[in-house]
Amino acid sequence: MSIDILNLSYEELEELLVKLGEKKYRAKQITGWLFKGVKDFDSMTDLSKKLRDMLDEIAYIGELKIQDKHVSRDGTIKYLFKLEDNNLIESVLMEYKYGFTACISSQVGCKMGCKFCASSELGFVRNLTAGEMLDQILSIQKDSNNRIGNVVIMGIGEPLDNYENLMKFLRQANLPEGLNISYRRITISTCGLVPGILRLADEGMSVNLSISLHAPDDAKREKIMPVNKAYSIDKIISACNIYTEKTKRRITFEYAMIKDFNDSEQDAVSLAGKIKNMLSHVNLIPLNYIEGSEFKPSDRKRIEKFKKILENNGIPVTIRRELGDDINAACGQLRRSVINRN
Ligand code: SAH
Repeated sequence: MSIDILNLSYEELEELLVKLGEKKYRAKQITGWLFKGVKDFDSMTDLSKKLRDMLDEIAYIGELKIQDKHVSRDGTIKYLFKLEDNNLIESVLMEYKYGFTACISSQVGCKMGCKFCASSELGFVRNLTAGEMLDQILSIQKDSNNRIGNVVIMGIGEPLDNYENLMKFLRQANLPEGLNISYRRITISTCGLVPGILRLADEGMSVNLSISLHAPDDAKREKIMPVNKAYSIDKIISACNIYTEKTKRRITFEYAMIKDFNDSEQDAVSLAGKIKNMLSHVNLIPLNYIEGSEFKPSDRKRIEKFKKILENNGIPVTIRRELGDDINAACGQLRRSVINRN
């Protein structure tokens, strides 16, 4: 069976080379090529012809195909990638003051069932491999000719529900011989899988953690996020405090503002009460409206008022800049529109 060389860790690549009777350091050369986006062994001109032929026989270089691409007025680019088994995933390239950020997917679909999310209704198909996560970055770099400096794992899927592959991907993205992206420039967004947060705290990786909170109390959160029945807000907060203690990283709480559901003054006060002693930051996101959904975005005034209340309670808070809102850049909407059309 042929193996995807992009899906090998550095150590696994070294082992493979030794098995082929080659020196370990060839891994460095191959990694260099892979991270330049090279997709065939024959182009790796500093390897012997014999090694290139051997690699060709036992391995291949995974390659995402650009199925669709939308460029927003603000420069944000949304990619719909086709995987080798024809499944579709989304990734987004955004430009911020501090450089280019890739938002990548971690699964085909999602099991978490959040009521306001476009990925939920399509269900879960499978986990992405580490190589497929990595290739989202490589393909975006190659297509856009930009160097990605930051990665957010905030596309389709729940990253902590694909833990082993996620760890392998993080180590690959961090490889000095490859992309060399520091852990501090990587953010994992989770709906709050507590065992995963606690495990991550012990990995010694100091990646940023972003929690999709979206409600100030369990009763409301359960209505929109079924996962809350397993992991309550208090359990998530305890896990976050342990995470901060071990990694010294500030936690971000994502809070999608839903009209007349979680955007009242009382909601803001409750939220402030829950998180007041944490090293954290709240990111208010105007909900992205999904056609046919019962949930509507809050109006601007409400969001500003909510922000003021958090600030008055000493909570650092920002309103997320909406990048790419003209191209369905958010949250599984492009994949959804393509799948529903077909
Ligand atoms: N499963 C992970 C990451 C993927 S979702 C998580 O839950 O964090 C990425 C982010 O988009 C999450 O914060 C999610 O709650 C949010 N999101 C999903 N649908 C949305 C919508 N319609 N409007 C605004 N944010 C949404």
